[in-house]
Amino acid sequence: MQTKNIDVNYKNKKRYKTAKLPIRQPMFFTWLIWMLSFFALLGKKKRIEKIDMEGLKPPYMILSNHMCFLDFELAALATYPHRINNVVNIDGYLHRAWLMEWIGCIATRKFTSDFHLVKSIRTSLARGDVLCMYPEARYSPCGITSYIPDSVGALVKRNGAPVVAIVHHGNYLHAPFWNFRKKRKVPFYTTVKKILTPEQIKDMSIEEINTVLQRELTYDEYAYQKESGILIKEKFRAEGLHKILYRCPHCNTEFKMGSEGADIFCTECGKRWNMKEDGSLQAYEGATEFSHIPDWFNWEREQVEAEIERGEYSYSDEVDVFSQPRCNGFVKLGKGKIRHNAEEGFVLEGEHNGEAYRIQRAPLQINSLHVEYDYFRIRRADCFDISTENDSFYCYPAKENIVTKLAFATEIIYLKKAEEKRHVCASRCESVCPCDSK
Ligand SMILES: [Zn+2]
Repeated sequence: MQTKNIDVNYKNKKRYKTAKLPIRQPMFFTWLIWMLSFFALLGKKKRIEKIDMEGLKPPYMILSNHMCFLDFELAALATYPHRINNVVNIDGYLHRAWLMEWIGCIATRKFTSDFHLVKSIRTSLARGDVLCMYPEARYSPCGITSYIPDSVGALVKRNGAPVVAIVHHGNYLHAPFWNFRKKRKVPFYTTVKKILTPEQIKDMSIEEINTVLQRELTYDEYAYQKESGILIKEKFRAEGLHKILYRCPHCNTEFKMGSEGADIFCTECGKRWNMKEDGSLQAYEGATEFSHIPDWFNWEREQVEAEIERGEYSYSDEVDVFSQPRCNGFVKLGKGKIRHNAEEGFVLEGEHNGEAYRIQRAPLQINSLHVEYDYFRIRRADCFDISTENDSFYCYPAKENIVTKLAFATEIIYLKKAEEKRHVCASRCESVCPCDSK
């Protein structure tokens, strides 16, 4: 089996170097960002609640949930007048790398092993500033906590700086990732809470730190909506919901779901559900399989997990590929072939400038998948991005509505392989390894 990566034959071989230290955010930009955020949110109903924050001065590390661009603005209001270094994905640098560098952003490529990122974070904290990162590393697809890698706990332990959790509520309901263009009227509520002190971090193991992070960053926007009595009266409120609810719980068919107005439906069996103003679902006829949207979403994940366990999961497709080796635009690589399975991970193959390229991300090299719904930077359609340490490949699949399932499969395969590796490593430390003895 071929495993070697073959780089794309670019005419311009230069790459954007993420391996550079961030500059210290000039105070002028700290003020400017605050002012722009203030005016962007002016007139909108919002509340920022600070918990256990008395007397806390930078340096500290913010870990925040991530729902839409508003998160940056609310974080800027919550932390002013302190300088922030935000960790952002490289596509945010598109055509404006200089600006992102000037405001102190730290560029990375999603879900890669970016060892320099650790150094940049340490530098920011050593300067006495606020370091803000979004450990889920993408907008929440369903308004609930996504996968947070264990490496975040190790990062906290290594730095030893206080940790503040910012949890936004309402941002997802206002602009859900699956239909972010059509905004709904929802108040914003952000909590800013000190969750770990340097003394606590010193006494805790990485596992204990991760337990705290998981607990403090757990959220469920649909539960929050119900508890808070928020009604979303916009008639288009379910449009796009089929992008995350892609599997019919009635006839079990995948990728045949659709949505319009306040309804989601299956084009295979015809079953239809209404999304009520309180965010819950109700079937027009027969049983309501899932009234709570995250339950439907989690059920889909379980189906993917079972498929992988049975050894039946595999994906292959023809994709339109656009890469981002630098920040001055995307390179159109044309058609490519991609496959994803539990043995190889992702393998992308194509041709550019007369030479073949091959990009592979083995299961343990990619713990989550960067998915975009209706991606606005290249072509308005769903896509996913496979990044290496020095390039990113945005793939537009030919298969309909596949990206949510791919994201589930990526995480499940990663966790399964990581668990297998842990088992082997642990066994090797024992006198007899149960794997070796077979
Ligand atoms: Zn159906």
